[in-house]
Amino acid sequence: MRIEHDIKLGFKDVMIRPKRSTLKSRSEVTLERDFKFLHSPLVWTGIPIMAANMDTVGTFEMAKALSGKKLFTAIHKHYSINEWHAFASNISTEMEDFIAVSTGISKKDSKKLESILQNNALIKFICIDVANGYSEHFSDFVKSTRTQYPDKVIIAGNVVTGEMVEELLLSGADIVKVGIGPGSVCTTRVKTGVGYPQLSAIIECADAAHGLGGQIVSDGGCATPGDIAKAFGAGADFVMLGGLLAGHNESGGEHIEKNGKPFRKFYGMSSETAMEKHVGGVAEYRASEGKTVEVPYKGEVENTLLDILGGLRSTCTYVGAKRLKELTKRTTFIRVNEQENQIYS
Ligand code: 5GP
Repeated sequence: MRIEHDIKLGFKDVMIRPKRSTLKSRSEVTLERDFKFLHSPLVWTGIPIMAANMDTVGTFEMAKALSGKKLFTAIHKHYSINEWHAFASNISTEMEDFIAVSTGISKKDSKKLESILQNNALIKFICIDVANGYSEHFSDFVKSTRTQYPDKVIIAGNVVTGEMVEELLLSGADIVKVGIGPGSVCTTRVKTGVGYPQLSAIIECADAAHGLGGQIVSDGGCATPGDIAKAFGAGADFVMLGGLLAGHNESGGEHIEKNGKPFRKFYGMSSETAMEKHVGGVAEYRASEGKTVEVPYKGEVENTLLDILGGLRSTCTYVGAKRLKELTKRTTFIRVNEQENQIYS
């Protein structure tokens, strides 16, 4: 046994210090970024915020709404091949830059991915997603996927430490997904004791990725638009959102009325609800590592997007970053013991 004594930090442990700035208005801030990738020859321009590949977030409908604003959707892996064909045969050439097809790492997953990509050559991004990205089998899957699809952008995770970010980039990933345990409907830390506070995970993983010319996506733990700004400030190239995008018309999820008030069901992809829906129940050898919750119905996602993007532009104005790209360089975090005033919550 060994203890690391450095305290690792989450979003709640810091704030961003304001800095003198020459920016006059939030409207001067550009949130779009241009990326070249470590392996794929693709060049990408857009706002680097992603909807999570959860079946109550990353839906085809969400992709339509988000791509209109140049935001990205990692589409969940539970659509059938036929559903993918029907969707992909109607996508516009703009939209093709803003969607990823998600996959697990079983033989069956790999066959399904092949079938979806064979018939829909326009899809440029693959998201290889497992809860625990530390297994050798996972890196091997990333390697074989890279060999099979040399031109696609591969997003792979999840991990939380620099050495594994490097391993995945060297195995063929372009973007490594970072986050174990911070998610709003995740119970991994409770069930297993394993995890890593997200802000420190981002800082350490971004450093490792950027050293090799790769990127990271911070996945999970953003409960407010301010957390998204902190994730970018810490060095995330992309930020993935689950809970913040749940509960909308586009999110999927069963509609529920309680005391005359509307809610939407939202659940973790390792929750009992998800496992019952997609694989016929929780296998005896494993525990569910996700929650099922009811989130207040939020209407169209467009309003939430305006709130998120407005918040992010405002952060950039506070620190004098004319472009989102400059935010990390202009960020000084201060460690704090307080966040918002809760008196009226
Ligand atoms: P949020 O933005 O809601 O805080 O986090 C979303 C992320 O939580 C997802 O992208 C995914 O990485 C993670 N997640 C989703 N479902 C589960 C689950 O059932 N268990 C765990 N451990 N993590 C989950």
